[in-house]
Amino acid sequence: MIRAINVQKSFGQLQVLKGIDVEIARGEVMAVIGPSGSGKSTFLRCINFLEEYDQGEIWLGDQLVGYRKRANGTLVKDRADRVTAVRARMGMVFQGFNLFPHMSVLDNVIEGPTVVQRRPRDEAIAEARALLERVGLRHKIDAYPETLSGGQQQRAAIARALAMKPEVMLFDEPTSALDPELVGEVLDVIKSLAADGMTMVIVTHEMGFAREVADRVMMMDDGNLVEIDRPSTMFSNPSHPRTAEFLRRVL
Ligand code: ADP
Ligand code: MG
Repeated sequence: MIRAINVQKSFGQLQVLKGIDVEIARGEVMAVIGPSGSGKSTFLRCINFLEEYDQGEIWLGDQLVGYRKRANGTLVKDRADRVTAVRARMGMVFQGFNLFPHMSVLDNVIEGPTVVQRRPRDEAIAEARALLERVGLRHKIDAYPETLSGGQQQRAAIARALAMKPEVMLFDEPTSALDPELVGEVLDVIKSLAADGMTMVIVTHEMGFAREVADRVMMMDDGNLVEIDRPSTMFSNPSHPRTAEFLRRVL
């Protein structure tokens, strides 16, 4: 579903991705772990081209993300509408501040389907109801974001992303801004997506969650993917010293 080949990215002189190679299968749940500043968010943002990678290729299915290939193999930046189209196949949820504050939960969820996808409003509303039911927020459909707890806001943000019918969901530390007692309700929603076979890439510090839900875990350090394995293997018997050191600190 997602294939990254030698993905490199610099901010000025600072190279933050030093050649990431990974394949994520359809229906796979990939957790991304690693120290702060190791390039996790940048890699996630490169996948949906919120950040332009400088070198390498990222494929979503048979579509090259952000670029198109000339006959001689060089890459040129793709047309904006095509970048938007490929990005629309992926939903993204950040740490927080995902919702439009001046819109009700319902309006947040139907914004993409009605404005971007130009689908009929009543159809979008019916789907939004079902999605909000699914994330346990049916009773908050007319509420405004500021009246919701952080956990409720993140669940609404997940519903909003799902309303676009993405093939892939990308999560960047979706629970790290939450009070501890609200973490579980958000992770439970993500777990239910995993059970439904959604392809997901999840940057997380929740090692228990990664162990339980992820099919594989990729450990990033200083712009490199240093180790990738099943969580049971990586957490009990890390093969790279940087992974062992990182896990000692967080577990
Ligand atoms: P992580 O998510 O693993 O904490 P990031 O991908 O956010 O790491 O950041 C990796 C490195 O890139 C850090 O050194 C960070 O300061 C730097 N960085 C991230 N975004 C930018 C940016 N827009 N401009 C300059 N440097 C950035
Ligand atoms: Mg980050």
